[in-house]
Amino acid sequence: MSRFWSDIVHRLTPYVPGEQPALAHPVKLNTNENPYPPSPRVVEAIRRELGEDGGASLRKYPDPTARALREAVAKHHGLRIEQAFAGNGSDEVLAHAFQALLKHDKPIAFPDITYSFYPVYAQLYGVEYETVPLNADFAIDVDDYRAPGGGVLLPNPNAPTGRALPLSEIEVLLKANPDAPVIIDEAYVDFGAESAVNLIDAYPNLLVVQTTSKARSLAGMRVGFAFGDPALIEALTRVKDSFNSYPLDRLAQVAALASYEDQAWFEESCAKVIASRETLTAQLQALGFDVVPSAANFVFAKHPAHDAAALAAALKAKEIFVRHFKLQRIDQHLRISIGTPDECNALVAALNGLIG
Ligand SMILES: *Cc1c(COP(=O)(O)O)cnc(C)c1O
Repeated sequence: MSRFWSDIVHRLTPYVPGEQPALAHPVKLNTNENPYPPSPRVVEAIRRELGEDGGASLRKYPDPTARALREAVAKHHGLRIEQAFAGNGSDEVLAHAFQALLKHDKPIAFPDITYSFYPVYAQLYGVEYETVPLNADFAIDVDDYRAPGGGVLLPNPNAPTGRALPLSEIEVLLKANPDAPVIIDEAYVDFGAESAVNLIDAYPNLLVVQTTSKARSLAGMRVGFAFGDPALIEALTRVKDSFNSYPLDRLAQVAALASYEDQAWFEESCAKVIASRETLTAQLQALGFDVVPSAANFVFAKHPAHDAAALAAALKAKEIFVRHFKLQRIDQHLRISIGTPDECNALVAALNGLIG
């Protein structure tokens, strides 16, 4: 604390990201990173951008509009470039959406158990919000989002539960909230949910947010997107150009673009993660865990006889990192990211030792 702090800084409760341990070979299943390297084309594209002239291109500012990238990703989704926004990770895209689209007189709504960055942005930008309880088995009931408000924000699949909503339910939500923005955060959509991008032409209130951090293995490059009606995209662009005109650096732009040019890598990588998720789910159930059905690259699991915080601490002592949230309703759950088969086996062996 300092007398030089602004009022707002005094009142902030910042988001706490998962630990990045300084160990040589941790089994790192705590931040939903992809266990596989990105497409080799990503590395080639970065090398090409650096060139043979000592990285001379780095002297120059990048394209402030990320035009080539937005064009390619829009095309990938069957959209026009005016319907695509790119930002420095989808966290930044979401932050702009709070300021550009969710800050109105009426409160916005999001689930009581969801991505813990949402209340942080709401506080930062002074956006009023109401949380809507998930039902007893952690499912979202879209009928709970009918009260007219300032907007609705949901991850699909939800985090940290991993549960997905079918597209028909997203459509119910859009129809019930025609006068408010509905933002669907699709960080994990590629691991088993249906994307709402195909609904964009029919619903001018829909904004779909995606990231290259999870399914495309590019968390370290910080590239995220929003897709929606050109008027929504323009609102995000106005905020971006009032904040940082060059959010995506040169290497990030070429890396993300190259990733969308390798569909085969993408499909194979997602299929491997999904197969490991199903194996790990069965192994955890055999150990007595209740596992929430997951459409994401993590599972959310609870053991009826073992305290979750104690399990997380015991695993950490073995250099295996999982995520525990000290929050109401979920403080007996662990969120476990899907690793390689070897990493998942190391986790199961450790759990066997602890509770088997
Ligand atoms: C990981 C995650 C994001 C943020 O991803 P970026 O790395 O900032 O693109 C957004 N929403 C949810 C629900 C996430 O889990």
